[in-house]
Amino acid sequence: MSGKAKKTKGKMQQAVLSRTLLPMIIMGVIIVIAVLVGYRTTIKEEECKNLKIVAYSISSAFDEMYPGEYRLVGDRLLSFYKGDVDITTEYDYIEHMRQANGVEISIAMGNTRILSTLKNEYNERAIQTSINAGVVSEANKSKEPIISTAYNENTKYYACYLPLYNEEDYAGLVEVLKPVSEVDNEAWNSALPVFLITCICVIVTALIIYKYTDRFVGAIESISRFLQSMISGNLSNEMPKNVTSRNDELGITGKTVVNMQNAIRVLVERDPLTGLFNRRCGNARLRKIQKYAAVSGMPYAVAMGDIDFFKKVNDTYGHEAGDMVLKRVAEIINKAMVGKGFVARWGGEEFLIAFDKTDKEGAGKELNNILNQIRSMVILYKDMNIRVTMSFGVVDGKMSNEFGTLLNAADEKLYYAKEHGRNQVVVKEPEDQEADNTEENEEVVSQVPEQSVVIQGADFGAMIDDGVVDEIIKKFTDNVIEEEEYGDNNGE
Ligand code: GH3
Ligand code: MG
Ligand code: MG
Repeated sequence: MSGKAKKTKGKMQQAVLSRTLLPMIIMGVIIVIAVLVGYRTTIKEEECKNLKIVAYSISSAFDEMYPGEYRLVGDRLLSFYKGDVDITTEYDYIEHMRQANGVEISIAMGNTRILSTLKNEYNERAIQTSINAGVVSEANKSKEPIISTAYNENTKYYACYLPLYNEEDYAGLVEVLKPVSEVDNEAWNSALPVFLITCICVIVTALIIYKYTDRFVGAIESISRFLQSMISGNLSNEMPKNVTSRNDELGITGKTVVNMQNAIRVLVERDPLTGLFNRRCGNARLRKIQKYAAVSGMPYAVAMGDIDFFKKVNDTYGHEAGDMVLKRVAEIINKAMVGKGFVARWGGEEFLIAFDKTDKEGAGKELNNILNQIRSMVILYKDMNIRVTMSFGVVDGKMSNEFGTLLNAADEKLYYAKEHGRNQVVVKEPEDQEADNTEENEEVVSQVPEQSVVIQGADFGAMIDDGVVDEIIKKFTDNVIEEEEYGDNNGE
């Protein structure tokens, strides 16, 4: 069962986790990708704007520093002048701009770089190298800056090309480059906190769900075990705290299952008319006491009691009155037996009474107290006063290990009581009773020896609260088993 339960628990937990976490993870991935793409686009746009600003700054600075036109001196692109200055050696400014803006800068004449911060793996400047022909062709047509991408030494760059014009003639262009990888890194770095927060959220959610389902599934498991045990016949189970302490639907289900167990117990164990244990349960309880006594040496006594002339009660006052008498007599005996043993309805108006921790003399004394209460009870039924008496026969549990022998002996004494005037408790053996026939029963009882050793810890079955029993019996007798008032008691 526990292996099976563990498996089920694992399955349920997995199902809950996958159904809640999977959408969260997918959502997290989408959020991270969306943020990443968003940041990348924004950063790229920002960077391209910066590239343009840098390109314009360089163009303006050149105009300011070196007034005049861009012009080629010589024919092999070795000298490129702006006004009167050969700008092919003017690295201070563009190096300064490169460092300040984190970009690579080149100045091209026609389509050839004549000034550049770009360097190859041998640390040689990328001068005398060509600008992409498409870009040059476009720059020839318009003075507007061109945003594009470029490759240099296997590195991909975002590029801004600002055409340089002498009046209306294309002269060259300013090339400003920023590595794509740097832009991507920036985007990644910006998206990283979102990625981390998403991961933390998923982990925390997973932990919360795991903890929650652990308790949740644990409670379901407890209810399931409780029901399994009930099905296998154990009706004295206690619902574990992990269910009863819950205030949710599972807690309510747990309480309902406990109520169901109580209802089944009442149906199985109780007599619906009097609420006393029925014959089947009385039998089982007596056997339990017997077993315990055999092991522990605890004294116990068994009595049979029968209402005197009960047929007359029925005949004189009616069956309903008879029922009322049965209930009241049962009430008196049941109350008197609290903490002393138990009473069961054995047959129609016959009761089995078992006393634990005492012998027949002690039991006889108790039974005489009970008899006195019954004698003095007046039952008011439709303006009529009904009185009844009872006869009892009681034997020591130790007289026989045989269940049947014990009950027969108690029955014999009850028969003796019936034969000898009823309304009495027979404690002594019939032959001894004959010998001191003149003595009062109370005198017999007064010879009670010292109370026998009291043994703690005997539990002959958990009790259900009497109020609960009454309520359940009422529900069932009202709704289900009205016509079964007699039947249940004659099962054995
Ligand atoms: P005795 O003193 O010898 O025991 O006489 P008695 O009349 O009590 O005994 P008897 O066995 O002749 O009658 C018992 C009666 O109890 C017969 C039966 O109708 C009645 N009885 C049994 N069960 C119930 C019940 O649940 N309700 C009512 N009202 N009567 C019952
Ligand atoms: Mg009777
Ligand atoms: Mg009888």
